[in-house]
Parts: sequence; C-alpha cells; structure tokens
Amino acid sequence: LKTVITKVDIPLSYGAAFEGERIRKDDLFVEFGGGKTQMTELVEMAEMDEIEDGKITVIGKDLTDLGDKGGRMPMGIYVKVAGRKMQADFEPILERQIHHLINYAQGVMHIGQRDISWVRLGKPAVEKGFALKHFGQILHDMFHKDFGSILDKVEVTIYTEEKDVEEFTKKARAAYKSRDERVENMTDEGVETYYSCTLCQSFAPTHVCVVSPERTGLCGAYNWFDCKASYEINPTGPNQPIEKGECLDPVMGNWKGVNDFVSKASRGAVESYNFYSLINEPMTTCGCCECIAAVLPTCNGVMTVHRDYTGETPCGMKFTTLAGVMGGGQSSPGFVGHSKYNVIQRKYIVGDGGLLRMVWMPKSLKEELAEGLKRRGEEMGVPDLFDKIADETVGIDEATVLEFLQKVGHPAMNMDPITG
Ligand code: SF4
Ligand code: ZN
Repeated sequence: LKTVITKVDIPLSYGAAFEGERIRKDDLFVEFGGGKTQMTELVEMAEMDEIEDGKITVIGKDLTDLGDKGGRMPMGIYVKVAGRKMQADFEPILERQIHHLINYAQGVMHIGQRDISWVRLGKPAVEKGFALKHFGQILHDMFHKDFGSILDKVEVTIYTEEKDVEEFTKKARAAYKSRDERVENMTDEGVETYYSCTLCQSFAPTHVCVVSPERTGLCGAYNWFDCKASYEINPTGPNQPIEKGECLDPVMGNWKGVNDFVSKASRGAVESYNFYSLINEPMTTCGCCECIAAVLPTCNGVMTVHRDYTGETPCGMKFTTLAGVMGGGQSSPGFVGHSKYNVIQRKYIVGDGGLLRMVWMPKSLKEELAEGLKRRGEEMGVPDLFDKIADETVGIDEATVLEFLQKVGHPAMNMDPITG
C-alpha cells in the first residue's frame, strides 16, 4: 500500500491509503448518522466579505462531553466557500468530496452524503486528540489544496445539538431539492453528451456511473449539471463527457458510445448496460446508492428501499443486506441502485414498465417523494397510483402485498409478466 500523507493540520495520519478502512463495533468511540441519529452535509457559496477563511465553529457538545464510553451524536457539517471563480453550480461537487476527504483520516470512517451521511470515529483517533473542529480543518485544508483555483475562503460550522441539526437538515433538503429540479425539464434525447462518474472506483473498482439528464447518479449527489460543472473545474477528473453515439435500444436506454466508455472504464468487466432497466443488463451499483430497487416476481412489480429504512422488505432483504450483496460495482439483474429523485424522473425503469411497476416502498420514502409520485401518477394516467403503492404498514412479505395490490387494482396487476 502506497502511503501518501498529505499535510492536513489534524492529530491523525492522513492520506488515500486510509480510505477503505472500516471501524468495527469494538473499536468504535462515537457514531454520527447511520440511521440512528441524523447527519447532514451541505456546501454553499457565500460572498467574499461574508465569511472568514479558516474559521471553524462547533455549536453544541464536543467529543469530550461523551465521557470515556463514547456514544452517538447527531451532526450537521455546514461548509461555506467563497472565491472570485466560485459558482453556485460547483456547490454539489465540493459537497461530494466530503466523503473521501474525511475518510482519508486514519481511524475515521465516512459513508454516504447529503442527509444520509454516516461517520464512525475509532477510540485511537479520539485518544490522539481528534475533536469535532478537525472535521472542519480537514475540509478547509483540502478544499484549498484541491480547489484552490476556484475558491479563496472556506468557513465551517459543525452542529451537534439535535434541534440545530434538524433545522440545518431542513435547509439542506431545500437546497438538494432545488438542485435536483434543475434537470426536471431536460430529456435524455435532448442532449448528445452524458457524463461519467468514476469517483466510487476506490471502493467499487468496476463501478461506473453514467449520468444523463433523466438518470441522476445513484448516490443522489450528482446530476447531469453537476457532472458538467465538475468537468469544467477539473477536465482530467472523475467526470468525463461521453458522446452517447448510436442508440442501440431506445426503450432500455442503450448507446454505443456509453458502452464503449463503460467497457474501458470498468477494465472490461462490464461491456454494456441499460439506463432504464433493472431486469436486463442494469447499471452497476456501488455501496453509496440512496435506494436499491428489486423485482418482486409474485407481485409482477418492483419495490425499492432507501438507506434510512432499517426494517425488513418484501424481497427478503434489508437495505444493508442488499447494499452488501449488490454494492460492489457489478451489474446484478433483478436489482439496481438509484437515487431517490430518480424514482420520479420520467425514464425511471421505463424498460420494465416504468413507475407503474412500483408496488412497494417504505412509507417514509413515499412521503418524501409524495408530490412527485402524485404528479407522475397523473401523467401516466393513474392519478391514484400513490395510494396503490404498498408500504410496511400493509406488509413486508410478497403474499400480503399481492393481496393488497389486487384489492386496490394496482396497474402492475394488468401488465405483462415481469419475468419473461
Ligand atoms: Fe459518482 Fe456514482 Fe459514486 Fe455518485 S455514486 S459519486 S455519481 S460514481
Ligand atoms: Zn459509491
């Protein structure tokens, strides 16, 4: 293992070599997020005179308040950046760096992004003097190092009081929503260029996201605009333009130019994949997907589950099990990782019948996407689709779900068999 230690002003070793580290339960001192508490990250642009470079503020308890035993805390990481070349378009790109930048610290594990972030700190890291302000220090130092060409100032605020984190999360969700909606009126047919994202190859070596206007990155953090902006900032970086080329299958979403790229970028492991199907050659899935969809053969439909839902699902696997099995970067027919927002994009699994195939979702995800689900239901000629999608209050096994679907007359009941 090559250890390149980058100079970051924290009491821990720091470098890419520590990225894949796991923190096991026995070594754990404190955990933020991960389904038990809320953890949220947001990067926003500020005016040059609004912020102070290098200022790091912790509002609420720090690690020393946890005593010797450690425990759990909610956390909000709010980064404000300013610079003459900074643009609001660059916010999501900077935000998505938080994941690997925090992971580079020895003894610190980071998973996820946005409002589903998850951090574990090991006991040795805390014994060496790591404190909450060091999250801010890492981001300040590394943002300057990696993005010095676009920013001049970085200020970080860390929240750990539950009510502050809640309030911050609301603000962050509004920002994510407006970013997601920028692609709302764009279509895949309307552009000739898609973008790759290979940021996750350090964890999932054969994984390649190709991001089109109607197929956002499965982590939810990268849409077509974000990839375009990322390419502008760093033309040799992980987001490369792909001429989609000849369309080989408009229904499944398959293009020659995309396949050529994926084949090369996965070093031959994946030669072709479809944008709009989970049954036939689905896209590859990595561990940071927001949701995983799975076929429910008995129900003639599909279900999807998001990371925050820790219960059982009708496919027989919890989210964590699904992510463990499917999240290594392979294409797994019958399953596919996708972002939350993708569920309400028009091309969502249209190769398999589209959103009308959706028969089960966790209640909290349904509620989060309610507005979009109702709108899409109307567009697709089933205005009460929302009410016909089962959730865990209906049941968590296929037989109970099927009974409900038949009772309410779910559209999937009259569709072609999902398994050919
Ligand atoms: Fe990029 Fe895909 Fe990883 Fe998101 S999940 S960071 S879009 S490779
Ligand atoms: Zn990933």
